[in-house]
Amino acid sequence: MALVNENFLKLKAGYLFPEIGRRVKAFVDAEPVKAKSLIRCGIGDVTEPLPDAAREAMKLAVDELGARETFRGYGPEQGYEFLRKAIADNAYAGIEVSADEVFVSDGSKCDTGNILDIFGKGIRVAITDPVYPVYVDTNVMAGNTGEGDESGRFEGLVYLPCTAENNFVPALPEEKVDLIYLCYPNNPTGTVATREELEKWVAYAKENDSIILYDSAYEAYVQGSDVPKSIFEIEGARDCAIEFRSFSKNGGFTGVRCAYIVIPKELTGSTTSGERVSLHGLWARRHATKFNGCSYPVQRGAEALYSVEGKMQVARLVKHYMGNAALLSEACQKLGLSVYGGEHSPYVWVKCPDGVDSWGMFDKMLNEAQVVVTPGAGFGAAGEGYFRISAFNTRENVEVVCERLVSLLG
Ligand SMILES: *Cc1c(COP(=O)(O)O)cnc(C)c1O
Repeated sequence: MALVNENFLKLKAGYLFPEIGRRVKAFVDAEPVKAKSLIRCGIGDVTEPLPDAAREAMKLAVDELGARETFRGYGPEQGYEFLRKAIADNAYAGIEVSADEVFVSDGSKCDTGNILDIFGKGIRVAITDPVYPVYVDTNVMAGNTGEGDESGRFEGLVYLPCTAENNFVPALPEEKVDLIYLCYPNNPTGTVATREELEKWVAYAKENDSIILYDSAYEAYVQGSDVPKSIFEIEGARDCAIEFRSFSKNGGFTGVRCAYIVIPKELTGSTTSGERVSLHGLWARRHATKFNGCSYPVQRGAEALYSVEGKMQVARLVKHYMGNAALLSEACQKLGLSVYGGEHSPYVWVKCPDGVDSWGMFDKMLNEAQVVVTPGAGFGAAGEGYFRISAFNTRENVEVVCERLVSLLG
C-alpha cells in the first residue's frame, strides 16, 4: 500500500485562484455579452513584452547551442558563474553578497517552497497575514502545521496580522519562532518595511536564533533609496536571513522562469544536539541533488537584464506598471476609499466600502463593472475587508478600470 502524504489533505480544495477562476467562468457563461469587456486585474502576472536585451541574449544563446564548438549540456546546478557574478555585482552592489552565495533556480515559488527541505521537523513557523499563499501551503505539506479552520488558518502556525494600524508590518511575535517569512515590498498589500522595522526583525531573529526568509521579488519597484531592497542592507542579517529574488516581476520572466536565493556562508541552523550546521552547505547539497540547473539561454537572458540596455528596459517596464498603480490609487482615493501600497509596488490594497466584505467586493466588481480583482480574505483572515488591484496591465485597460470604478462607486 502506497501511503499518501496526508498533510496534503489538510489543504482546502478551494484555493484562492481556482475559486476566482470558478466565479469568473460562471459570470462568462451567464453573461457572454458583458463578459467581452472583462478586464483582469487579479492574478499577479505581468503583461508587457520581454525586454529586447533579454530576448537578443536568449536568441544568441540558442544559436550557440546549435553549433558543436559552442554547444553546452548540463550546466552547474548552482547556476553559471556569469549570472551569479552579474547578480552579486549588480543586484547587491555595495552589499556584502558574493557570487558563490547565489543559487540560481527556475522560480521563487519553487525556492520558497523547497527551502523547507533543509529545516527539521517540529519547527515553529511565523507568517504574516495576509500572505502569499505558497508559504502557508508548503508548510502544511511539510507537516509543520495541524488542521485548518474555517477562515483558512492552520493550527501550529504563528500568524502575524498586518493591518492598517501597524502599517502592514507586523509586531514581533511574543513567543519564540524558528522561521519567519517576510516579503517586502509586500504581496498582497503592496506596502514596504522601513529600515528601522527590518532592524527590529533582525535583532529579534538574532536574539531568538531564528531565520528570516526574506522574499524580495518586488525590489525593483522600490522608488528612491530610503526603503531597503534587500534584507542584507541591514547589519547582522547575514547571520539570520536567506533572501529570495526573481526575474519574474522586474524582467517580465514569469513565463521564461529564472530566480535565485542568497544564503550567506556564515548562516547556520542547529541539530537537535546543538551542533551548528551551515545552511549554505545543506542547500548546496539539496539543490545539486534535486535540481539540474536553469536552462543556459534563460540564464543568458537574465544576465542581459544587467547590461546597460537591459537596465534601461527594466526601468521602463517598472515605470509603466508604477504609472498604472498611481492611476489606480488615485481613482480609489478620489472615491473616498482607504488605499495602501502602490507607491513601491505594483499592487494597490484597498479597503472595501462600508458593509461590503472581500468576496462581496469581488462579486460586485465582476458583475457590475466586469473587472476582476483579488479578494483580500483569500490571502488570509486579516485580509478580510480589503481587495487587491494589480497594476500589471496595459495603460489602456487601467484607464478603463479607473472609469468603471468611478461609475460603480462614485
Ligand atoms: C511573483 C512572486 C514571486 C516570484 O515567483 P516566481 O516563481 O519566481 O515567478 C515570489 N514571491 C512573491 C510574493 C510573488 O508575488
